[in-house]
Amino acid sequence: MNRRNFILFSALASGVSSIASVAWALDFGKMMDAGKALADAESVSDADLKNYFDQMTAHEDAQNKVAGPSTPHGKRLAKLTSGLANYKGLDLDFKVYQTPEINAFAMANGTIRLYSGLMDEFTDDEIRYVIGHEVGHVQSGHTKARIQTAMRTSALRSVISATDGEAAKLADSQLGDLFEKVILAQHSQSNEREADDRAMDFMKTLKYDSKACVTALDKLDKLSGGGGASWLSTHPSPKERADRMRTQLAA
Ligand SMILES: [Zn+2]
Repeated sequence: MNRRNFILFSALASGVSSIASVAWALDFGKMMDAGKALADAESVSDADLKNYFDQMTAHEDAQNKVAGPSTPHGKRLAKLTSGLANYKGLDLDFKVYQTPEINAFAMANGTIRLYSGLMDEFTDDEIRYVIGHEVGHVQSGHTKARIQTAMRTSALRSVISATDGEAAKLADSQLGDLFEKVILAQHSQSNEREADDRAMDFMKTLKYDSKACVTALDKLDKLSGGGGASWLSTHPSPKERADRMRTQLAA
């Protein structure tokens, strides 16, 4: 529900009846449309959601310079992700983007992308923490929840509802818009804590040095002073999170 309709709805709910009848009828019609879009978004199947994420992945990979398997970053990633094509039932797909940004992201289809700038700053185990954290976002369905919200609220809803249950082929501009809303929006603190807890579990399960959860977040906290870490725009509060991980280590 957009803000305008929300305000109207609140007014209706509280019994305020001073709204002019014409405007009332128009907005009521919009509310019905919003309700229909909501139902449509909820009826998008998991297979179609995966298809939309796959389209976003292909779009981002085409927009960025992907490190080839024989490049230093490609070789290092292959070493760090060996045995991780499937983790606890989730199919994962890893690549490195050659860009100085300190960043990484995940999508609900198992896409995980690391930026070479992050790899250059972090030790192997610290990168494993980032991988575990991004896998945690996938496991927890965080981006799946976001794409459902984006489809309810954006212009995409008309595209998607028009295709009658089949995944639509989205235009580049729509994929860019979806990427911004679903991937570049900041995760909530509770999502971050959940992904960090899963990262700690990931490190312990695979017998990596779990102290790297703390040192990676301390490093991000230091880097945040210089504004150099774009991961922080989507993954907030490294200091508080480092303290949480420190406590878990001691437990
Ligand atoms: Zn995160």
